[in-house]
Formats: sequence, structure tokens, C-alpha cells
Amino acid sequence: MYDVVIVGAGPAGIFTALELLRKGSRHKILLLEKGRPVEKRHCPKAETGRCMNCKPYCHITTGFSGAGAFSDGKLSLNHEVGGDLPSLIGEFYAQELIDYTDSIYLEFGADEHVEGVDHSDKVKDIRKRAIQAGLKLVDCPVRHLGTEKAQQLYYALQQYLLEHGVEIRFGVECRNLVLKDGACTGVIVAEGGRETEIAGRTIVVATGRRGADWLEALCAEHHIDHKPGTVDIGVRVECRNEVMEQVNKVLYESKLIGYPRPFKNKVRTFCQNPGGFVSQENYDNDLAVVNGHSYKEKKSPNTNVAILCSHNFTEPFNQPIAYAQKIGEVTNMLGAGHILVQRFGDILDGKRTWQKELAFSNVRPTLKDAVAGDITAAMPYRAMTNIIGFIQMVDQVVPGFASTETLLYSPELKFYSNRVNMDADLHTSIANLYCLGDSSGWTRGLMMASVMGVLMARKLMGVR
Ligand SMILES: Cc1cc2nc3c(=O)[nH]c(=O)nc-3n(C[C@H](O)[C@H](O)[C@H](O)COP(=O)(O)OP(=O)(O)OC[C@H]3O[C@@H](n4cnc5c(N)ncnc54)[C@H](O)[C@@H]3O)c2cc1C
Repeated sequence: MYDVVIVGAGPAGIFTALELLRKGSRHKILLLEKGRPVEKRHCPKAETGRCMNCKPYCHITTGFSGAGAFSDGKLSLNHEVGGDLPSLIGEFYAQELIDYTDSIYLEFGADEHVEGVDHSDKVKDIRKRAIQAGLKLVDCPVRHLGTEKAQQLYYALQQYLLEHGVEIRFGVECRNLVLKDGACTGVIVAEGGRETEIAGRTIVVATGRRGADWLEALCAEHHIDHKPGTVDIGVRVECRNEVMEQVNKVLYESKLIGYPRPFKNKVRTFCQNPGGFVSQENYDNDLAVVNGHSYKEKKSPNTNVAILCSHNFTEPFNQPIAYAQKIGEVTNMLGAGHILVQRFGDILDGKRTWQKELAFSNVRPTLKDAVAGDITAAMPYRAMTNIIGFIQMVDQVVPGFASTETLLYSPELKFYSNRVNMDADLHTSIANLYCLGDSSGWTRGLMMASVMGVLMARKLMGVR
């Protein structure tokens, strides 16, 4: 019998265990992770040059530190970025927890430098152009760990937890929850081909974006209060660093939000990677989706950034994850299982992009196995119209952004929809069961997921 069983060793799970230790907990803590320790995680693409669709899971998103290890490691230090947790616990408390959690990242080796806090006159100039274009510029200081440094930092965290008595079991997949009389009393896990039950007084599920549809199925099976939330559908845009130079230098990450005509849906930039690389991640059902990251040292001549359109559904439809997956599947089908890439000018001209045409441009794709084609054949009209309108708005802030050669990769999908209902103390409708991080639908970034872990630990310890 464990006091606390945490499922998923991503930032949310890690910071739950860490904060319990920091607050002097004597709880018997078990951390279950279906992937490997951080030092044993390895993506073969570095050698093969293409995604090998690893089985049984993708090493980019699975293993100690979750989607964080191979991520760009950009810690957003403003409560307006990274998810809706502040609406649950209040903006001031959320910011206090961000500052505290940031200090832990610093303790474990994060770079002291913070991007996006200087050059106030230059920021004013960018904001003025954003206003003229009808866009909101969100101020967000960013601490950039960098992909390789993030792995070292999470290794230090992993060793700290192990040295301080947290039991971490790798290669163990949680299959289900055990519920008795309306309370959660344990989990069913699969390990070495066998299913066993592990009992716990408190069960914390923090399975990340990859675990979002699994958790949605559990919510339906066990009647855990939840509601379909937002799903984000979009593209990854890539252009030359020269085009993005000013925003890269001044803001590092330009967080722009707009509501283009005629639909006026929320469209935003997300995860900007100056000198970065477009990447691919594969979900369990072989869905290939596009992402982006940047290294601290190794740089490309390009900048990539996601453009995401939020989709909310109304009655009678309530399966946002399935909706986004279908769009992804059709896009993958058109690219023969690869990520599709198309030039912005070709989209406006109503034609596909041919592989040879990619060589005509200043910008060369950093995702080498992306296949040139027609993303508009799979993207819903509403999303495509939103994306085109938004790119043209951003062009007024970043001249050249809407140029003919700008590359659009698809599908870029964010599965954080299913939102588990909870109160400000993080209680769900099932006693002793807590759901954290990206899989809970309340966070969508490293910092906010880490913050939710810190908060979880404090709630379990009964301290603020
Ligand atoms: C390529 C990439 C780049 C990113 N870049 C950034 C960035 O720069 N800045 C930023 O803020 N965010 C970034 N993100 C998002 C960020 O990584 C996530 O928001 C964050 O990691 C969420 O933390 P989490 O703890 O909720 O889940 P995760 O980090 O996803 O961790 C969940 C863990 O649970 C494990 N798990 C899942 N299901 C089970 C199961 N059934 N049994 C046992 N274990 C299970 C998984 O293996 C995983 O290790 C990026 C994501 C990706 C993929």
C-alpha cells in the first residue's frame, strides 16, 4: 500500500513528488512511468534522418520528464500562457506558484537568462504594429532551457527523487483505475506482459497529452465528471530567421492572438523556435503530427512557430479528440504517412507544392522527411480560412511572414481537450483521485504542468 501513486513521470508528476519531499512529507510515494529513465531515452531519428515510428511508444514523448525531455524547454513565466489553471486557482496565486517553480528549475541548473524582458521601446513598436493589425501581443518572459540542457536538468531531478526515497518504476503502463464505493483505491498496471493491481491511498493521474484520450475513456467508464474542452488544429509555419529577426531578438517568442474574419475564432501563435527545427512526433495509433523545437547551441537558418485555431463544439457533438484525429489521419494519408508541407503562395494559388519547388526558395524545410503536397485537401475550410487570415495579419507585424515561400506543415494538433472537472483544491468527482497536467485539460505547457504538480503536493500536505 502506497500513500501516493503518481501515474506519469512528466513535469506534473515529477513536481508533485518533488514538492512533497520539499515540504517534508513522509509519504510512501510511487511514480509509475511507461517509458524509460531520462538518460536511456533516445530518438533514432538522429542517426536515420527519419522517424522510425518506434513501438511500443515514441521516445520523444514517453519516459522520465514526459514530453519535456526532448522539448525545446521554454518555460513561460507569465500566468496568461500555458493553460487555464489560473481560472481555477486565481491569477495571483498562479503567478506566485510560477515564480516559486521557476526558482526550483534554477536550483536544478536552468539558465539564469530570461528572454523577452528587455528592449521596452522595441516591444512598444511591435505592439503598435500588432494593434494596427488587430492582434493582441501577450507579454511573456521565457526561460529557455534548450533541448540538450533540459535533459540534463531532468536527469538531476530524477536522481534527486530516487536519492530521497521516491520509488520510480519504469516500463510500467497503467491500464485502469480501481474504484470501490465511489473512491479510487488503486491502479491496474501492465508490467512484463502481466497485469497487477497496486493499492494507493491517493492516486494522481498525470499522463500528459499522449494520455489524454486514455483518460477520456476512463472518465466515461468510471463516470468521472468531465467535459469536452477545446481542441487546437493548425499548422507549423517555417520561414527564414531574417524574416523573424526583430521579434526573435526582442521577444524570443511572439505570443500573438487574433480573431480573423469571417469566423472570428481565436487563432494564436504557439511555441516559436528561433533557429529551430521542425520535428515529427507519433502517437500510439500511428498518427504523425508536426511539432518544433530548438537547441541551445545547434541552430538552423529558420524559425518555426505553430499557428493554432481553437475549436469548441456544441451539442450534439462531444468528441473533439476524435475530430482532430480524423483530420490528422486524412492529412497523413495524403502524405503517405509523412508530414505534409506546402508553400503559402501555393495555397493562395490553389495548387499543391511539388518536391522540386521546395528547392526554388530561400527557406528549406528543416523536417527533411516532410512530403510536399496539398494540406488544403485535408484541412477543414473554417480552420484553413482562419489560418490564412491570421498569417496575413501577422505579416503586418512581421513583414515577409506571408511571403510565397513561407512553409506550412500539417497536421499540428493539440489534444488537451477532455477537461476533468475539479474544484480549487483539485478534488475530482471521485474521492482520492486527482488528475493533473496536460491530460487533465487544465495545462498545456511545461511550466503550468509543473505548477499544477507543486499545487497538488501542497494540497496533499494541507499547506498553501
Ligand atoms: C516536441 C515538443 C516540444 C514542446 N516544447 C515545449 C516548450 O518549449 N515549452 C512548453 O512549455 N511546453 C512544450 N511542450 C509541451 C510540454 O512538453 C507539455 O505541456 C508538458 O510536458 C506536459 O506535462 P505533463 O506532466 O502534463 O505530461 P507529459 O510531459 O506528457 O508526461 C506524461 C508522462 O506520462 C507517461 N504516461 C502516459 N500514459 C501512461 C500510462 N498509462 N502509464 C504510465 N505512464 C504513462 C508518459 O510516458 C509521459 O512520460 C512541448 C511538447 C513537445 C511534444
